[in-house]
Amino acid sequence: MSTLEGKQTRAFQTEVRQLLDLMIHSLYSNKEIFLRELISNASDAADKLRFEAIANDGLYEGDAEVAIRITFDKEANTLTISDNGIGMSAEEVEANIGTIARSGTREFLQSLQADQAKDANLIGQFGVGFYSAFIVADRVTLLTRRAGLSSGEAVRWESAGDGVYTLENIDKPARGTDVILHLKAEEKDFLDDWRLRSTVRKFSDHVPWPILMLQSKGFEPEEEEAGEETKPESDDTPQWDTVNKASALWTRAKSEITEEEYNAFYKHVGHDFEEPLAHIHARLEGKYEYTVLLYVPKRAPYDLWDRDRKHGVKLYVRRVFIMEGAEDLMPRYLRFVRGVVDSTDLPLNVSREILQKNPAVDAIKKGMTGKIFSLLEDLAKNDAEKYQTFWDTFGVVLKEGVIEDFAHRERVAKLLRFSSTHADSKVQDVSLEAYVSRMREKQKAIYFVNGESFEAARHHPHLEVFRKKGIEVLLLSDRVDEWLVTHLHEFDGKPLQSVAKGGLDLGELEDEADKQELEKQQGEFKDLLERVQKGLGEQVKEVRITNRLTDSPSCLVSGEHDLSASMERILREAGQKTPDTKRTLELNPSHPLVGRLKGETNDQRFDDLSHVLFAQALLSEGGQLEDPAEFVRRLNGLLLG
Ligand code: ADP
Ligand code: MG
Repeated sequence: MSTLEGKQTRAFQTEVRQLLDLMIHSLYSNKEIFLRELISNASDAADKLRFEAIANDGLYEGDAEVAIRITFDKEANTLTISDNGIGMSAEEVEANIGTIARSGTREFLQSLQADQAKDANLIGQFGVGFYSAFIVADRVTLLTRRAGLSSGEAVRWESAGDGVYTLENIDKPARGTDVILHLKAEEKDFLDDWRLRSTVRKFSDHVPWPILMLQSKGFEPEEEEAGEETKPESDDTPQWDTVNKASALWTRAKSEITEEEYNAFYKHVGHDFEEPLAHIHARLEGKYEYTVLLYVPKRAPYDLWDRDRKHGVKLYVRRVFIMEGAEDLMPRYLRFVRGVVDSTDLPLNVSREILQKNPAVDAIKKGMTGKIFSLLEDLAKNDAEKYQTFWDTFGVVLKEGVIEDFAHRERVAKLLRFSSTHADSKVQDVSLEAYVSRMREKQKAIYFVNGESFEAARHHPHLEVFRKKGIEVLLLSDRVDEWLVTHLHEFDGKPLQSVAKGGLDLGELEDEADKQELEKQQGEFKDLLERVQKGLGEQVKEVRITNRLTDSPSCLVSGEHDLSASMERILREAGQKTPDTKRTLELNPSHPLVGRLKGETNDQRFDDLSHVLFAQALLSEGGQLEDPAEFVRRLNGLLLG
C-alpha cells in the first residue's frame, strides 16, 4: 500500500474538466438528481462490501450493519452522504474519480451539448454520476477508507471543480466513504429535512439498503411503513429514521407492487430517467429456482454498440449482489434488457469466474431468454404501438439473434419487422407472417432486395417488374440485413429470395406470352448483346435481355450463389478481400436507349453508350464507379454528339 506524501495537487484530463465546467455552469433542470447518483454509488459500495465479505468477513470490522446516511449542517452549509460500504484506497480514488476520463464522459458531453434543456437527468446512464455533485456544490470533499485497510490509510480528495483536485492521507476510523458537498449559495434550499426526505423517496426508494436521516425534533415520519424507528437508548444518542423502503422489490408479490413502483425500480437498476417500455416479473421453479424482474427500455443506451458496455442484468444470489451485465446472463442480441435475477441455487462464496461456469447460470440464461421472448411476443400481439417503439429502437439488435442463436431462429424470425413495397414506407412494420398472408396466389418465394439505404432499396431497378405485377418485396437496408438473409433461408416453408440474384424466375407468376416474347427477343438482340459484351470486356460476365425492367434501361444481376453487391462493398470497406465476381448486365429491350444502341452505327458512340448503360446500372443500385472521370467523359461525348 503506497502512502501519499503530504498534500498533492493533480489536474483532471481536459474532458473531465469540460464535464465539470458543464456541471457547474449549465445544468438547469432536475438538479436534485445529484442525490440519486451519490446514493446509487453508496449503494454499489455496500453491495461490493457484502460480496467481498462472503470470502472475508473481517471486512465488516465488527460492524455488519451497512447503511447510507444523509446529514446536513446549515451553519457550515454542507450536505454529506456517507456510507460504510467498501470504500476506496488511494489508487482507487485516483482511478475512479481522478485524472482520467471514464468511458462515458465524451458521450455525456456530446449529449449535453445537443440537449437544449441541459437536463441533468441524462447523467446516470453515462457512468459519470459522481461528478453530478458539482451541480449543487462549489467544493466537494471526499473522505474514504477501503474496508480492511488501517485507519491511517484513508484518503481525503477535494476539488472545487476548477480543473484540479488534491489528495492527501488522513486518519478515518470508520470504513467507507463520506461525500461532503459545500453547497453553492443559491442551492442552500437543499439543506432542508423535508426536501431531502422527499427527494430520497422520489428517486431512491428502491435502493435495497437503508437510507438513514437523523430524526429531527418534533418530526414524525409521514408514513408508517416508510421505515422502522429506532427506539431511543438514551436521550443523547442520535436517532435515525429509515427514509426509503429499503426492500428488494423483486422479492415482493406481484399483486402488491404498483406500476409506479415497478417504474421507479427500473430507473434505479436501468440508470435511466424514462419509464420502461415493458417489464416481466416472474418466479421460475424447476431444477433451479430464481426470480426475474426484467425490463425492456424505451430508449437505447449510449453504449448499445460498445463492447465494454457497463450495464445489463444484475445477478443476485439470495439478495446478495454478485455481478452485472455479463453476457453469461443474456445473449448478446438481448443486451438492451435491464433488471435483476435472484437465484437461490448458486453458491455465494465463489469467485465470479467460477460462477460463470456453473450450469445453473446457463439454465438461468435460457430461462430469462425465454421470458424476454414471451414478453416481446405478447407486445407484438397485443400492443402494436409499443412493439413498434421497441422495434424502431432495438430491432437492429434483435436481428443479430437470427445469426447468433440457431435454437431461437424461428422465434426471432416471427418478431422481425421490415419495410416493404406494400406500404413503401420507411417504417419497418411488416412481419413475415403478414407478408406470407399477402402472397400472390402462385407465389412461391418471399422476395427481398438489399440497398445501401431505404431510398436505394426502394428505387432498386430490380423492383420494376415486381411493382408491375403487384408482388410485394421486402426492402432491406440495415447493415445487419446482409447477414440476416444469409442465415434466414426460409420462413413458414417459403424460401427467401433476393430479386437481384440469378435469372428472374417468377415461376407460375410469369405470363406464358411474356416468356415467349423474351425468348424471341433474345434471338433478335443476339448480335447487339455480343457486341456490348465485347466492348465491356472483363467488367461483365454476360449481357442479356431482361423482362424485369419497365422504366430503367439496364441493371446488374449477381449469380445465385455470389455475394450480393452490397455485401461485397461492406466487406471491402472492412478491409476484407472479396472474390472477384463478375456480374451479368441485363438490358431492357423496350427502353428507347437500348433501341438507340441497337441502331447505332458509329463505333465510338456505341462504345460510349454501352459503357454508360453499364455505369447507370451500377449507380442506380447504389454502387460506385471504378473510374468516374471516364464515365463523365463518355457521357459528355454522347450529350455533345
Ligand atoms: P459509476 O457509478 O457509473 O461507476 P460514478 O461516476 O458514479 O460512475 O462513480 C465512479 C466510481 O467511483 C464508481 O464506479 C466507484 O468505483 C467509485 N465510487 C464512487 N462513489 C463511491 C463510494 N461511495 N464508495 C466507493 N466507491 C465509490
Ligand atoms: Mg454511479
